[in-house]
Amino acid sequence: MRQVAIPNSLPGGKPPTPPPGTHRLLSIAGETMGTTWSLECFTPPGLTGDAVRALVESRLDLLVRQMSHWRGDSDLARFNRADPGAAVSLPAEFFHVLNAALQIAQETGGAFDPTLGEVVNAWGFGPPGPHPELIHPPGRWRKILLDPAAQSAIQPGGAILDLSAIAKGFAVDHVAVQLDSLGIGSYLLEIGGELKSRGVKPDGQPWWVLIEPPPGMPPAGEIIIALYNNAVATSGDYRRYVERAGERLPHTLDPLTAAPVRSPLASVSVLHADAMRADAYATALTVLGAARGLTLSDQLGLPAVFLLREDGRMRTLKSRAFQAMLDED
Ligand code: AMP
Ligand code: MG
Repeated sequence: MRQVAIPNSLPGGKPPTPPPGTHRLLSIAGETMGTTWSLECFTPPGLTGDAVRALVESRLDLLVRQMSHWRGDSDLARFNRADPGAAVSLPAEFFHVLNAALQIAQETGGAFDPTLGEVVNAWGFGPPGPHPELIHPPGRWRKILLDPAAQSAIQPGGAILDLSAIAKGFAVDHVAVQLDSLGIGSYLLEIGGELKSRGVKPDGQPWWVLIEPPPGMPPAGEIIIALYNNAVATSGDYRRYVERAGERLPHTLDPLTAAPVRSPLASVSVLHADAMRADAYATALTVLGAARGLTLSDQLGLPAVFLLREDGRMRTLKSRAFQAMLDED
């Protein structure tokens, strides 16, 4: 059975009128943040692919310089090295992401934890090199205090930020604003599996996105989403992992155990107007697992889909908000 999810923003599956003028399909792609990005868009006349690529790359580079966990010269690395009690001034985008990360940490009871830097490194998901003994006091993120007026954050001492579970989503939102400013009214933008769309295609169709079952697993009923001015993010154990003693360990870590999450959950996809929030929630719901994750999704009104491995088969669980979008055919 095929299931078609149509968010409320696209009532009854009837998309609005496409943008006027002669539009050309442009497909470009590249690498950033240790992963790939891709863009499909219909460009207005006069806008070249090179101009679009240059803008996308310059914005991505800016965000990498601010929030990379891999670069010693990023603003994030500067925060991580700061002395206990130091107020570290941050660029606007980094401040915005950290503010959202701390809010989502609060909302998810710490399942999303932006201070897992040393745990990420210890498990081999960060930069290579010697790493200090692994001690991760849960809830250290609570001690990071933000000052919006000064746009600064206080390093409580030993808080090692890693924003990898939210920064890709933010990058999607950030680049999307730039595409809007270029007058591109119809696009599908993706960074490392986090997607956002704008408008409809010239034929009036929305951008359709397939929620794929993990490689090697039988489809559990295909789910296709009409993505319209909306974002979808997926955290999955098959996208990035390390092998330890023959065991495949996912790169999502449980802040309580400071170890990779072990669960039958293969992936979680979350829809949200902001790719940044969809990204962070997808990671948090992976940590919580299907049962607690569904409860939280329903409390927050989040459209979320959980794919579980059960006896070699896939099982799909959907939050109430996701269920409400389904139009089965
Ligand atoms: P994502 O691809 O969005 O699922 O993010 C995964 C990455 O986020 C990992 O490679 C880690 O760097 C980091 N991470 C892992 N577990 C968590 C967590 N519980 N909260 C926040 N960040 C995490
Ligand atoms: Mg994420």
